[in-house]
Amino acid sequence: MSSQSNTDNQSEITVTLPDGSQRQFSHGACVRDIAADIGPGLAKHTVAGKVNGKLVDTVDPITQDASVQIITPKNDEGLEIIRHSCAHLIGHAVKQLYPTAKMVIGPVIADGFYYDIAYERPFTPEDLAAIEKLMGELIAKDYDVIKRLLPREEVISIFQERGEEYKLRLIGDMPDEQQMGMYFHEEYVDMCRGPHVPNTRFLKHVKLTKLSGAYWRGDAKNEQLQRIYGTAWVDKKQLKAYLRRIEEAEKRDHRKLGRELNLFHFHEDAPGAVFWHPQGWTVFQELIAYMRRYQQDAGYVEINSPDAMDRSLWEISGHWQNYHDHMFTTETEDGRVLALKPMNCPGGVLMYHHGRKSYRDLPIRMAEFGKVHRYEPSGALHGLMRVRHFTQDDAHIYCTPQQMGTECSNVVALVLDIYRQFGFEDVRIKLSTRPENRMGDDAMWDMLEGALTQALEGMALEYSINPGEGAFYGPKLEFVLRDAIGRDWQCGTLQVDMNLPERFGIDYVDEEGQRKRPVMLHRALFGSLERFTGILIEHYAGKLPAWLSPTQAIVLSIAEAHGDYAKDVAQLLRGVGVRAEFDVRNEKIGYKIREQTLQRVPFLLVVGARECEEGTVAIRTREGEDLGVMPIEQALAMLSQQVQAPDHAARQETLQQLRERLNKHTPEAA
Ligand SMILES: [Zn+2]
Ligand SMILES: [Zn+2]
Repeated sequence: MSSQSNTDNQSEITVTLPDGSQRQFSHGACVRDIAADIGPGLAKHTVAGKVNGKLVDTVDPITQDASVQIITPKNDEGLEIIRHSCAHLIGHAVKQLYPTAKMVIGPVIADGFYYDIAYERPFTPEDLAAIEKLMGELIAKDYDVIKRLLPREEVISIFQERGEEYKLRLIGDMPDEQQMGMYFHEEYVDMCRGPHVPNTRFLKHVKLTKLSGAYWRGDAKNEQLQRIYGTAWVDKKQLKAYLRRIEEAEKRDHRKLGRELNLFHFHEDAPGAVFWHPQGWTVFQELIAYMRRYQQDAGYVEINSPDAMDRSLWEISGHWQNYHDHMFTTETEDGRVLALKPMNCPGGVLMYHHGRKSYRDLPIRMAEFGKVHRYEPSGALHGLMRVRHFTQDDAHIYCTPQQMGTECSNVVALVLDIYRQFGFEDVRIKLSTRPENRMGDDAMWDMLEGALTQALEGMALEYSINPGEGAFYGPKLEFVLRDAIGRDWQCGTLQVDMNLPERFGIDYVDEEGQRKRPVMLHRALFGSLERFTGILIEHYAGKLPAWLSPTQAIVLSIAEAHGDYAKDVAQLLRGVGVRAEFDVRNEKIGYKIREQTLQRVPFLLVVGARECEEGTVAIRTREGEDLGVMPIEQALAMLSQQVQAPDHAARQETLQQLRERLNKHTPEAA
């Protein structure tokens, strides 16, 4: 307080701009004044300011020497402020159109914003259009948004008067706030930390995108609310590009494609749990089979641990205390409380703990396709992307501190290699480092973070750092995939852990016969296999690569007489490892081709009189490419090659190299 009051008495303040230049202003000058002093053009585009690293409104007084950055729509922060102000604008329009509506919360999300609203009847698409139209009219007024800091009691009485009961509940959540920022959009007022745009002229490129249900505090036990989503951009071009992108995303929506391609469904009796149909289950099993082969080659063993385990185990792991609300529990006849595993790690640690381990056994790499169960609020569930029961491609690596660096490098190489094989070339890596509250000393953290950075730098990989975002028990790498339409998905993780080995007291015997704690690495490549399947469906727009396609080839007969021939060809294809079906229905061939193309079957084999006679097939792809007519044997060879998983070629190459090496050892036969 004392140093603050000293500077508060200054009659002049010195402002340092990002380029290092300095300017003098009178005490209490605001960002708007500074921008105007730099130039009228800049003043016109000023959305907010950053004073000593903190975002402020253009009218907030600056009371001491400070470094100041002017925020315009071109800054990421500027765009976020625009979006947030657009949420307030929903409030302004909604209250004019539906005065009895009650405004709840209106946060910014990726690419946009939403507002949750309580209203007596469901909003319709016509309502949405009316709200958007009125928003446009309000924006066109170019009115100033007025900020006032008001004492708590006054804020409460304002919202009481307006019947905004949810705002009152939100105030109840902040018992210590004595003063709140109130933003006046003409007659409408909203409570917020801000900052906000000073004028609605910044909000011109806005669009409301959809309506959905929501719950107060995101909990289905609470009253239902309605959510209005919107997006806003700096200019018309960006807005248009974004709208095109969501249109494309809707076409690719895995829930829609899941229905059309008969892959899976959900049922209200098992919320957040997938009913896999034979077609979808084939994709899922192919993914697991691929991972299994890959892991075997990389020196992993695979285990399987129980789904339900005693409460005491979860108490040791800390889940019971920290994660209880998300766990499914059950009590048995004899009074034991069991929990369905929300994570595979504790079961995995018990597996390591079984039997004594020596340094000669390490590293031990234990993979598990474990199904985990996490209670998610029903409002958060979203197709395969967010479920309550999912399969992780989990692995735990137990090693000595000396082995840790190599193990980390191997995991990073494995992750990137596999992503590449799936066609994800654009991968971002994030390193989360030591948080403020953490276990272990600095030397330990230096070592753990060092292992991860060396793994990345050893491979000359670019990465960004999330300072302080690591878990309390260790640092973490995250791998973010960018899909075909530019969306980012966080999938893989590699985490170093000193907590679980300590809690469970696991050890190994070192060269001197001493018991030592192993280092434990947690690693997942795709994360949730359910979610990854969803990502793949959207990334490929349903056109899964041939090796993952549920049906890889289908034989279509032109007329009834060719039915038996078609069935035989399909049988032969299955014999060489191709998932083949036949369609011998009495339908026009053009109709069959269209239908199977829509089903995204990679290869369509057409057989008619000529093919039957000559023992050939006419092959075309789902892209409409004509591969020509060829003898059956040639087709079998070609297709069995085409449906190989991407790891097949790499493995053949390694085997070939081994053969060549062996040949060098063996003297040529005379
Ligand atoms: Zn706000
Ligand atoms: Zn784990």
